[in-house]
This record gives sequence, structure tokens and C-alpha cells, in this order.
Amino acid sequence: MKSIAVCSILVMGTILGPALQPGMSYADEPATAPARRWKQHSMTQPKPPIVAGQPSTAPSPVPADAVVLFGGDSLKAWVADGDALAAWTVKDGYFEVKPEAGWIETRESFGDMQLHLEWASPSPPAGTGQNRGNSGIFVMGRYEIQILDNFGADTYADGQAGAVYGEAPPLLNASLAPGAWQTFDIIFRGPRFSADGQLLDAAHVTVLHNGVAVQNNERILGPTSWLNFLAYQAHPQEAPIRLQDHGQPVRFRNIWVRRLPTRILPTAEQAQPPRALPITPEKLAAFAGSFQLGDGVGKPPVTMTPNGGGLIVRFPDRPVDMPILPVSERAFEFVNTDARIEFELDSSGRPGDATMHIGGSTRSLKRLK
Ligand code: MG
Repeated sequence: MKSIAVCSILVMGTILGPALQPGMSYADEPATAPARRWKQHSMTQPKPPIVAGQPSTAPSPVPADAVVLFGGDSLKAWVADGDALAAWTVKDGYFEVKPEAGWIETRESFGDMQLHLEWASPSPPAGTGQNRGNSGIFVMGRYEIQILDNFGADTYADGQAGAVYGEAPPLLNASLAPGAWQTFDIIFRGPRFSADGQLLDAAHVTVLHNGVAVQNNERILGPTSWLNFLAYQAHPQEAPIRLQDHGQPVRFRNIWVRRLPTRILPTAEQAQPPRALPITPEKLAAFAGSFQLGDGVGKPPVTMTPNGGGLIVRFPDRPVDMPILPVSERAFEFVNTDARIEFELDSSGRPGDATMHIGGSTRSLKRLK
């Protein structure tokens, strides 16, 4: 049923959607894309322009709060399939794919994260196309950021180093020569699923390859795969990172990851607008007026005008009307901002100058009229 619904949306997109411009791919404009995309592994899809990547001469410093996945001497953070010890070769501060030993994955699970990893293609190079220094980082075990030696070597665009494999070529080709240490910095946001397993939001990824942005918050279309586009299947919010054994001795060093927190939403109470006290139109009009902000003598004033049960504040050069509501005999709170304005009252209770409290500091508002 679900796939029928998706199909009809795509069919409508074909009829109603905007035409693709030359050089654009489906993934360029996911929000407006018609049902047209490059065939997977297309050899006619334009190749990413070549740019100069920044060589990594030494392992970059590890942040104190990062989880170190490989510090130079041990694969203890990794296991092979079946929970066995990872059997890849460790030496001289790096480790290397041991062809046919199988994939390895992290003992810990990760979801939203910042991952740093350094890798080097076999030198001298061997093989061609996808059999030349191929490995890959399968984020959450499913979403591959491709590792490949395509330095001066041809392959399909969506299989180049830095590609979301089979989905999104790198925007630029920042590859370095075989044997050179290259860096990946991957900022990943995992997909979100509802409690009953429906996709709420796709995974997104940003990748810097040798310091060059090659994926820009790219929307991942689903688990990556050779020859196939796959649909999302609900999975936990964290999963192990897997490294691919594609049969070629790619090297790795200095791998660390920082879990990224999710944003904290306010409680219902914290999100509430201020509770307005009732006020007569006459009293409200007495608060209204124009005010000099701080020491801005002669500058356009801040104005306050009655609006319903409160006031509208307008700051010069800020074309937004900001409502404030009365919360005491002399104080108003902003509806959308954590700020308040307190008025001085004279002996007859008439409001004069005011003070605005915002962000832990105050601004004076001298009444002009
Ligand atoms: Mg690969």
C-alpha cells in the first residue's frame, strides 16, 4: 500500500515537477526532484571536478571528549563478524584490511556523530575501477561513505571516494595519491523512525575529504548497495560502524568519534507565552510611547503601541513587530523572546522610563513621549 502511495507521488512529480537543469542530479534538489535520477553507477553521470585536497602529514589531534576507535596500537574497539576479535593487521601506528578476513565493526554503537578517520590507498596501486583500493565506512552498518583509489583512475561517479555509495557522488574529487594519508570528517544525522517503524526523516551526511566539503548535508535515500536502491527499514538510533573488506589492503589510522547530542526541547511550561494580566485601554495607552534605546541620542526611537491586551514593540532597523504582554503593574514580557520591559512609575502611578532585560543584561529605554 505504502509503495503504491509513493509511486503515485512520483508519477505526479513527473507531470508537475520542475525540469532538471543540465548537470543536476536527483540528489541535488530532493525537495523538488521529479522522478528522475541517474541510473546507479552511471558512467555518463558527470565526474566530480578535481580539486587539491589537503594532505595529512601527521595524525590530527584527538579531542578530549572523543571516543577513540583506533589510537595506533590496538583494534580492541573493533570486532569481526560473529563477535570474534578483529583480525586485520596492526603495525606502525596503523591497521590494514586483511583481504578475506572479513568486515570489522565497532563494539560500541553510534548514531548522530562527528567521525574522523584517516586512510591510505595501497601503494603501489593495483587493480582498476572498483577493485582499486576499495573499502568503505558503513555508518550505522548501512550507509556507506566510499573509500576508493580514484586518484587518476576512472570509475563511476557514485562510486568515487567520498560518495554516498551508489547514491550521491562527491561534489568534488579531493583524492590524494596512493600511499598518502587522507582524512575523512563525517558529520552524520541518523534517520528518524516513528514508534511503528515509519520513516519520519531520512539520514543526512556532510563529508569533508582532505578538508574539502564533498557532501553537503546530503539526504541519504536509503541503505547503500551495489546495483540497487534500497528502502529504509526501521532500526535503532545507534548501531556499530562497519569497515568494509573489499579484498584490498587499505590502511587506517587515527579514528575517533564524537556522539552528537540531540536538541533539548522546552517543557510545555517553558514554551508557554506569558500569562497576561487584564489591563484597561487607558492604562495600556499610558505605557505606550517612543523611547531612546541606550545612549542612542538622536537615533530612530523604539516605539510601543497598544495592541489587544498588550503592546507592540518596534525596534529601529528591525522590521518585526514584537508583542509584549503585561505581567505585573509595571512589567511586560515578550511573547517570543525571553526578555521583559520594566517601567518606572511616578508617585501617581504613571509609567515613565523603562529598562529592558535581555540575555542577562539590561538596556535603558528613556521615554521621549
Ligand atoms: Mg566500498
